[in-house]
Amino acid sequence: MLLFTPGPTPVPQNVRNAMADETMHHRTPEFEAIFERTRKHLFNLFNTDEVLMIASSGTGAMEAAVTNLCHKTLLNVNSGKFGERFGKIAQAHGLGSVEIKNEWDTPVSVEAIIEAVKSDANIDAIAVQISESAGGLSHPVEEIAQAVKAINPDIMIIADGITAVGVERIDVTNIDCLIAGSQKALMLPPGLSILGLSNNAIEKIGAGKGYYLNLATEIKQQRKNTTAWTAATTLIIGLLEVLETIEANGGLSRLYGETACRSKAVKRALEAIGLKIYPKVSAKSMTTIIDDNASEIRNLLKEDYDVNVAGGQDHLKGEIFRINQMGLIPNHEMAWVVNAVELALSRLGRREYDGTANKVFNEAFFGTLDGFKRGFEN
Ligand SMILES: *Cc1c(COP(=O)(O)O)cnc(C)c1O
Repeated sequence: MLLFTPGPTPVPQNVRNAMADETMHHRTPEFEAIFERTRKHLFNLFNTDEVLMIASSGTGAMEAAVTNLCHKTLLNVNSGKFGERFGKIAQAHGLGSVEIKNEWDTPVSVEAIIEAVKSDANIDAIAVQISESAGGLSHPVEEIAQAVKAINPDIMIIADGITAVGVERIDVTNIDCLIAGSQKALMLPPGLSILGLSNNAIEKIGAGKGYYLNLATEIKQQRKNTTAWTAATTLIIGLLEVLETIEANGGLSRLYGETACRSKAVKRALEAIGLKIYPKVSAKSMTTIIDDNASEIRNLLKEDYDVNVAGGQDHLKGEIFRINQMGLIPNHEMAWVVNAVELALSRLGRREYDGTANKVFNEAFFGTLDGFKRGFEN
């Protein structure tokens, strides 16, 4: 079965092998050396002043960011389940909570953020997804961060990059906290989250908040290449292998370039066979299709063509399907997936199969990749 859900994503064979060794004790020079090397790679990936690895799923890092960086009121952007979660976290901790809510296909506007910030002086942190995985949309986070910092540089910008870090280059100039999770673009099993922090964020964290997710405690320990609590050793060993594999495959520029080309090519291929892209502004991490036959297409993909894609949640259950574009995806697998979607449409009597999806995918992918490579090499 080809796993093409936008999280979890497949774990490459060499990464699985790296994690298959005997359990290493976390308080040893051997593990600390692995931790140090992983941290170095993460600084390159995040471009932030500090990076922290936490033994939790992505939501743990979201909670740590909110509790440590928001002391009064959190402004969260809800264009889907993950954005909504930030507001729930703030409320669970008794923080003030202001939300900008939109339909799941609609990115927040920079103007709406500015208006909210100007009308509530208690807002001291903003939380927003770079890629909102519920509908596969992209929020203009870099523009939001820049606009907010121009109004008040003390407002903390928390960017959920769980389906963006490792997908695209992110300008962290105005971002205080950038979050990643192991089971999405980082091609690992679930259970590890990573936070990139700015020096301003570290200042605001001060003595930290909470206990397990107290970021001050982690900063102190991780700067010494260890963790406050037992490290997720196996996942960190896997993460080092992932980051070394990316480097061995042409580095981050190549990964970002190929992901962008693939993402564009899949969208073109599916549009060429009459399908409709759901979000108004698509994230590069996934392709989301809205379709009356979404459930039937998903079932055919799984049962007859061995492809597992994600459906929708809540009011979009049975309305959309989402195809992963994150990670080091072999091109022949991606071609198989778009071809399988076309076969499924033909099985449903929607169009006669003629191989259009595969043809358009290959033309668009290799065409844009050539352009990317020329740009990359210049
Ligand atoms: C998956 C995801 C999360 C939540 O992560 P968990 O690992 O399920 O806790 C948060 N934000 C985004 C954008 C995600 O895609």
